[in-house]
Order: sequence, then structure tokens, then C-alpha cells
Amino acid sequence: MSESRAFCPRCGDPVAEREGLRPGEARSDPNLCDACYFEDFDLVDAPERIEVQVCSRCGAVHRGNRWVDVDARDYTDIAIEEVSKSLGVHVDATEVSWQVDPEQVDQNTIRMHCYFTGIVRDTPLEEDIVVPVKISRGTCDRCGRIAGDYYASIVQIRAADRTPTTEEVERAEAIANEVVAEMEDTGDRNAFVTDASETDDGLNLKVSTNKIGQKIARKTVEEFGGTVGDYETLVTEDEDGNEVYRVTYAVRLPPFRPGDVIDTADDDGPVLVRSVQGNLKGTRVTTGEAYEASFEDGDAPEARKLGTVEDAEETTLVTVEDENAVQVLDPETYRAETIARPDYVDPDADTVPVLKSRAGLHVLPESATPDDE
Ligand SMILES: [Zn+2]
Ligand SMILES: [Zn+2]
Repeated sequence: MSESRAFCPRCGDPVAEREGLRPGEARSDPNLCDACYFEDFDLVDAPERIEVQVCSRCGAVHRGNRWVDVDARDYTDIAIEEVSKSLGVHVDATEVSWQVDPEQVDQNTIRMHCYFTGIVRDTPLEEDIVVPVKISRGTCDRCGRIAGDYYASIVQIRAADRTPTTEEVERAEAIANEVVAEMEDTGDRNAFVTDASETDDGLNLKVSTNKIGQKIARKTVEEFGGTVGDYETLVTEDEDGNEVYRVTYAVRLPPFRPGDVIDTADDDGPVLVRSVQGNLKGTRVTTGEAYEASFEDGDAPEARKLGTVEDAEETTLVTVEDENAVQVLDPETYRAETIARPDYVDPDADTVPVLKSRAGLHVLPESATPDDE
């Protein structure tokens, strides 16, 4: 059949050559004449309405059969995105452009005015459509589990022979949020902290998976030293009869912290603690020599805490007596006292930081004061 002799299969009219399939065009109905073709032609295929389910707690959007986190504070943005995805432009159209104008009808309804232009069979077309978008608010599975106090693991932050400091507690909580945020960034919606509550002896974190609990415990110990123990508690059986365990990670922070001045059991004088990662390491405040606890003692040598660098006070360095002794003013009595001279004392200094404790007066290194760190 030659092109000039083609007839429209619907109306029987002869189809002019120019109405036939143009090179490079994908025609859905190439044989119809233009009149029949445009008779029931829709440039845009749009749903009558769209319903978007969003989580009223976290803003996640329900798509397909799952919840997806979207970076939209504004439901209008979500509505535009959902409408864009649901619209179909006829395959025959070329040079398609479109714009959308959202009209907020009420809190949960947005009328999306969409304006399309395109070219089909050399004919410029335009089409206006309105798609009402209804926002329905619900609770996503994650928020539902958080609200239901769901958790699979507990991280206990405790410290040996003391309670964790405010800094340690706050930092552990921050670590938990960082770990969860990292996992969320990979699209993991099952990562969350259900609850963080301070107790008399530390902090309890309830988290959604054992993996997260383990990560938080490990990171906390990486920063502050100490150890992690874990134990399982059987909580239930799942549908398949498998036992489900809840794992508790018990973090035990070391008894001493960097910046503590401790009186060790030996007679070589107090030690300013520098590190509690592995064996406790520090500096003798009598001589300036390095101290390291034995392997057996690890981060917990037998010792009493005398104070911290924060308790130190600047006082006048009266004189350097010899290589082992200096004279300073007692910051409480203002009497000149002769005390041990650690090698870090600058003999030309006018003042030095001293710690007065039940072990006596000791000069601390300048660099040990918090302001210098
Ligand atoms: Zn026709
Ligand atoms: Zn949610």
C-alpha cells in the first residue's frame, strides 16, 4: 500500500501523506487521520485525585508499600513531587513543557493547577488540568514503634567507682544520635533511639537494634576508655518460633579521667592523669616523670583521686630553691611553702598553677589547665 493511497481505518477518509508517520516520530496510532486522531486525544493523563499519606511525627511519605524519608518541611513540595510522578504525557508529544501552581485549599488539601504545552502531529497543543491532592496524616511504622516504646537493645553507661560526668553522659547521648543519623543516611529506617534516660548511676539508652547498641557502646569506649560487657535476655519468640533476644551493652567507664590528679599506692607522689585508653598514663607532679599503670592494673590502678586540673589555682612562684624544690605561696594561707619541683616548672615564671589537696601542695603543668587545652 503506497502512502498516498492510505485511508483512515476509522472514518475511511484518505490520509494525506503529511498526516502519516513522520520520520523520527513514534506514533501510537499512525494510520488515523488527524481528525479521528485528535477526537479522543489527551495530551496529559492525570489521576482524578491523589492522596498522599505523610507521617505527622517525622514527615515521612508513604510510597508504594513503604515509608520514605523526604527532605521536605513543606507538604506542598511533597504534593508537587507526587503529582509530577503521577502525570503521564502522551508519547506522541514533543517539545513538552509544563508548569504547576499549587493552591492551598485547606490544611490538608492542595489543588494542583498544571499547565502543559506540547506539539503533536505538527499541531501545538495546550492543556490545563487540576489535580486535587489530599494530605492524610498518619504515623509511620518507625514512629509507631518509638511511640510504643519498642527497643531491641539497651546501652548502659556507667563508670567504675564513680558516676559518669555530665560531659560523658551528654556525649554518650550525642554519640547515640550520631550513630542513628549515620544509619539513617544510608536509608535505614529501622535505626532510632527510643529513649534516653539518666539514672542515679549513669545513662540508659534504649535503641532499635542490637547493632546500633553495639556501635554506641564501642564508640563511647573509644572516646572515654573503659570496657563493654554484653548479655542477652530472652524476651519473646517470633512467629517462626525463633527466640528473640534483647542485648544489653554495659559500658563501664574507667574510674579516673584525663585531668584527674590521683594518689597512687606507691610512694612516688601524685600523678596527673593524661590518658585512660588502655593502661592509665600520666605525669608525676612531684618530678614530672612519666607514669604508666601496669598491664594488670590497666586503667584502674589502686589510687585515690585528689582533685582535677580544674581545682588548680595560680599562685606566686617565690623562688626556685634547687633542682628538687621550689617555694610558692600557699593559695589559702599566703605563706611561702617549699614543695617538690617537677621538671616542667619554668624557673622564670612569676606564677604557677598549684593543686592543694590532702596530699599537700603540688605544681601542675601549665598545659594541664583547661584553658590551655
Ligand atoms: Zn479518520
Ligand atoms: Zn514517622
